[in-house]
Amino acid sequence: MCLFCKIAGKQIPSKMVFEDDDLFAFHDINPGAPTHILVIPKLHIASMNDATPEHQALLGKLMLAGHRAAEIAGVDKSGFRLVINTGADAGQSVHHVHLHVIGGRTMAWPPG
Ligand code: AMP
Ligand code: ZN
Repeated sequence: MCLFCKIAGKQIPSKMVFEDDDLFAFHDINPGAPTHILVIPKLHIASMNDATPEHQALLGKLMLAGHRAAEIAGVDKSGFRLVINTGADAGQSVHHVHLHVIGGRTMAWPPG
């Protein structure tokens, strides 16, 4: 079982933000901004390269949950970024789809 499957299953502790039947949200252990929350599907999908039309509703729900996390953190009005790193060039280090919710400071574009 992968690291994030274990976090979603509470076999590894995390600072949970919210959960429901399909999703689990928790604080990133190494935050890159004042707000840095990860939202994951409880279903193991290794990366967006493995996402299929079967996952459409789940991934839509993931995006809306990203907004919910931003609201809970109080950065929805000031601005936030929703990011899914995919593959080596993007720096994906955990091979379970996760949505980064980043905010609480201004951010440069494009990312380095
Ligand atoms: P990525 O580089 O997009 O794969 O992002 C993986 C993220 O997971 C990084 O921002 C890490 O800081 C974060 N991370 C790794 N291990 C943990 C953990 N045990 N609890 C919370 N966040 C973690
Ligand atoms: Zn997993």
